[in-house]
Formats: sequence, C-alpha cells, structure tokens
Amino acid sequence: MTNLCFFTPNNMKELRQCLSMADESTRFIAGGTDLVIKLRKSSNKHWKLIDLSGMTELKYIKEDENFIRIGACTTFANIASDPVIKRYGRCLSLAASEVGSVQIRNRATIAGNIANASPAADSLAPLSMLGAKALLMDRQGNKTVCGIDSLISGVGKNNLDVGQIILEVFFPANKDVVSSFVKLGSRKKVSISRLNIALAAEYSNGDQKLKNVNVAVGAVGPGPMSAAKSASLLDGRNISKEVIESFSESLAQEVEEAIKGRSSMPYKRKAVMGLGKDLLDDLLSYISALEREECYDR
Ligand SMILES: Cc1cc2nc3c(=O)[nH]c(=O)nc-3n(C[C@H](O)[C@H](O)[C@H](O)COP(=O)(O)OP(=O)(O)OC[C@H]3O[C@@H](n4cnc5c(N)ncnc54)[C@H](O)[C@@H]3O)c2cc1C
Repeated sequence: MTNLCFFTPNNMKELRQCLSMADESTRFIAGGTDLVIKLRKSSNKHWKLIDLSGMTELKYIKEDENFIRIGACTTFANIASDPVIKRYGRCLSLAASEVGSVQIRNRATIAGNIANASPAADSLAPLSMLGAKALLMDRQGNKTVCGIDSLISGVGKNNLDVGQIILEVFFPANKDVVSSFVKLGSRKKVSISRLNIALAAEYSNGDQKLKNVNVAVGAVGPGPMSAAKSASLLDGRNISKEVIESFSESLAQEVEEAIKGRSSMPYKRKAVMGLGKDLLDDLLSYISALEREECYDR
C-alpha cells in the first residue's frame, strides 16, 4: 500500500517547518513532471512530499543592480517569455522555450530541472554559460550559495543534502553578454535533448569580435561538457565562414573524445557539426539585429 505524507507550505515560515521535519524519504514536488514518473516506477511506497506549488514567494524573475534572480518555482513558460531573461540570458530563454511541450513548460520549474540532474536537462548548459549560481537552504534554515555545475554529481544525482532546497537561481546582469542555444531532439513537438549546445560571450557594439567565449555541450555526460578548445577558436576573431567551419570541426572532435567508444558517437559527431553551425548562425543573426537595434526573437 502507498503511504504518502503531503506537506503544503504556503510561505517561508511554513516551508522552514517542513524542512526541519525532512528525512531520507522526503522529496520536493514542484511541477511534478519528473518526480511523479519516478515515484510511479519506484518500489518504495513511503514518501514525505513537500509540495512547492503554493510557494508564490519562490515564483519570480527580478533584476537587481548586479544580478538576474529567478525563483526556484518559476516555470519554463515564464522564463521563455520574460524580457529580462531574453536580454541578459538569451541562451536560457531559448532553452526554456524548447522544453517539452506547452503543457510541460507551464508546470516544469527551473529548480526541478536542475535537481533532477538529467544529462538531457535543457537549462544546465545555458546556466553554466551564464555563470549561474543557486541559493540553497538547509533543514536548519541556513542559506548557502553554490555554482550550478557543482550541484550535479552524476546521472540523475545532485549534491543536495536531505531537506536542502534550491530557493533561487541567479546570474550576473551583464549587458555585454550575447548568447545562444541550439538543441537536437529525438522527436518533434515533445523533444528531450539528444544534444544541446550553449554559448555565451562578451560583445561590444561596433567591434564585431567575441571575447571571453564559453561553450558547453549538453547531453553527452552527466553535466554540461565545457568545450574550451573550440571556444578559444572564436575568441577575439571575426566570425567568418572559415572560423565557423573550424569551430564545428573542433567541437565534433571534443565531443568524440568525451564519448569515445559509445555507440551513439558517429551520429553525435555529425549532429554536433551541424548544431555548431546553427549555433553560430543564430548568434550572428542576433548580433546583426542588435546592431540595427532590432529586437531579435528566434
Ligand atoms: C513529456 C516530457 C517532456 C519533457 N521535455 C523536457 C525537455 O525538453 N527538456 C528538459 O530539460 N526537460 C524535459 N522534461 C523533464 C522535466 O519536465 C524537467 O526536468 C522539469 O524542469 C522538472 O521540473 P518540475 O518542477 O516538474 O520538477 P519535479 O518533477 O517536481 O521535481 C524534480 C526533482 O527536483 C526536485 N526538486 C524540485 N524542486 C526543487 C527545489 N526547489 N529544490 C530542490 N529540489 C527540488 C524534486 O524533489 C525531484 O527530485 C520533460 C518531461 C516530460 C514528462
């Protein structure tokens, strides 16, 4: 028989009380799009669920002096349509708009995507590129900050302690950062990533060159894989046809090294070359639109 204890905090005080009672059987449920499937498959039938859907205090997108802040329970639908995210974290906005389907995006939250730690999670590579961090709170109410990359400890595994919750995700509000995201899925409409790439770089109008370029490839390992060698090919250069070619080739080599011996390697090698080109095409279109001071929405 299934034995579920359900807690429904509606504010931070009630949430702290719930956390103080957390044990190994406790799980947070936000949108439930991953957790419900996991609980159905699990042989364990005894769970304490902390339902976060009533935590309106954790649903927000804010811009302060230095950071863009996203509450843990903010859905991908909200992230995808938010003008602040489009401006400062375009790669995250694009990734959010490609998560699942309309129905999934209306429920799925950013913290759930991170904590679920799937290699195919679409927010991880963009968040990594934006230098995002998470604000956490433990069972005693203590708050700490942790880089998003260091929250992932393996496939489907995170570094959160029992009863430790993600409260917020934040990244620097840097107007000079331009970014992009492309994804290859296995199905049309509701498509889980087989491969995704995020890029972020500094760009100042007029100089036509990218600086401090970072590139991450998702869905080839437990967390996003940094493609530093390929990123360095773009640093300080004009993005010519030749540069795009050598970038895509280098990206394919980096992925090949990372997944040597895997049966999916020949497919992923080809796919990554195509996606690498798409990524730079998209970024160049965005930059030209920025220079013409047009809003560019893919
Ligand atoms: C049909 C379908 C299509 C999908 N397509 C995509 C896709 O294209 N791209 C993609 O990335 N994902 C996709 N997903 C996966 C899923 O929708 C996302 O991972 C989603 O963001 C999970 O968020 P959630 O709020 O539903 O999390 P939940 O299912 O509620 O929770 C997931 C995990 O996170 C934990 N958790 C939730 N909130 C917190 C918190 N604040 N602090 C700490 N831990 C927390 C839970 O305890 C649980 O372990 C898809 C899922 C389905 C069913």
